[in-house]
Amino acid sequence: MSFRNFKMVDYVVFGRGAFNQLDEILAPRRKADAPMIFLVDHFFEGKPLVNRIPLRGKDKIIFADVTYEPKTTQVDALANSLKESFGTVSGIIGIGGGSTMDLAKAVSLMMNNPGSSADYQGWDLVKFPGVYKAGIPTLSGTGAEVSRTTVLTGPTRKLGMNSDFTPFDQIVLDPELTKYAPVNQRFYTGMDCYIHCIESLEGTYLNEFSKSYGEKALELCQKVFVAKDHWDDESDDQLMMASYAGGMSIAYSQVGVAHAVSYGLSYLLGTKHGIGNCIVMNHLEEYYPAGVKEFKYMVEKNKIDIPQGICKGLTDEQFDTMINVSIGMKPLWENALGKDWEKIMTREKLRALYERL
Ligand code: NAD
Ligand code: ZN
Repeated sequence: MSFRNFKMVDYVVFGRGAFNQLDEILAPRRKADAPMIFLVDHFFEGKPLVNRIPLRGKDKIIFADVTYEPKTTQVDALANSLKESFGTVSGIIGIGGGSTMDLAKAVSLMMNNPGSSADYQGWDLVKFPGVYKAGIPTLSGTGAEVSRTTVLTGPTRKLGMNSDFTPFDQIVLDPELTKYAPVNQRFYTGMDCYIHCIESLEGTYLNEFSKSYGEKALELCQKVFVAKDHWDDESDDQLMMASYAGGMSIAYSQVGVAHAVSYGLSYLLGTKHGIGNCIVMNHLEEYYPAGVKEFKYMVEKNKIDIPQGICKGLTDEQFDTMINVSIGMKPLWENALGKDWEKIMTREKLRALYERL
């Protein structure tokens, strides 16, 4: 028996207004003639947050287009243009949702690793540490701020650069930054966290480490989306800590059915992670009865639209593509259904599930 020995984020600052400490935090990380690069979610272009970024010398703000989830080509283009312009940089600071944070992690790694980010999609393929990297979430739920992966769509697969070099050196958790997120988006990304908790807590990989974090994260999600009648500052605080704890929970277990099925949707149809998980969760009574019941209650209470019928009219070939991607996520299925998962989740059964979505 060998236990996972996982690398964590080095420094964490939490608090309303913590963003104001960024200049001080970055000062000792600055190298002569090498700028800090602030990779900022394009939503913030022209918004007041941009004026609070502590620019010094040749520092640069790059707005990240996150209309689609991060691609290896996008990562390579960003890293190559930074190498061309500056040789090296002092650090990459990702400010945004899970997509921007993943881009920042991947670009940091590609500043110091040869070839294309597509060469490193998988487990422990990254050869050298990246440049200094910090993550500053503006949406709560994915757990990308704590995870050891960065999910990328590449030429042949959607898979993370999963390695000990991937976690951030620093994260800045400032709940004020999530305050103006749109209601639907906040819910979809928040449900990513809720679903991480259910999949971890109901999974066969569960242990006391994951359980401790998973239970806390679940309780915080319930406070925010079940107990309260309106959103307040405390909700931003609670969901930010739920995301962190949910990420810590799956770090030592694994996600499950909703994620495995949602990856197929995302690969074929480009469905985004948060909403894709919600579309699937809506139909998983058989696997997570209590979680799905509560999920439906939260959808109704928060007046959220979950799309239906997204697989209508797809061809057999398209269903096969989704099934292949999904069935390929072996650890997720094993966590969800146990060692004999292949006998339980047959291709026919998965096809029937996709047809219902
Ligand atoms: P996102 O980063 O894709 O952003 C969704 C939308 O919200 C975008 O249009 C963005 O511009 C906007 N946005 C972000 N912050 C905002 C704010 N404060 N106010 C208004 N709009 C804002 O959404 P997400 O759900 O946070 O992240 C999903 C991504 O995270 C996917 O690419 C997924 O693969 C990845 N992910 C990674 C991990 C990991 O461990 N690395 C885990 C889960 C998901
Ligand atoms: Zn997720």
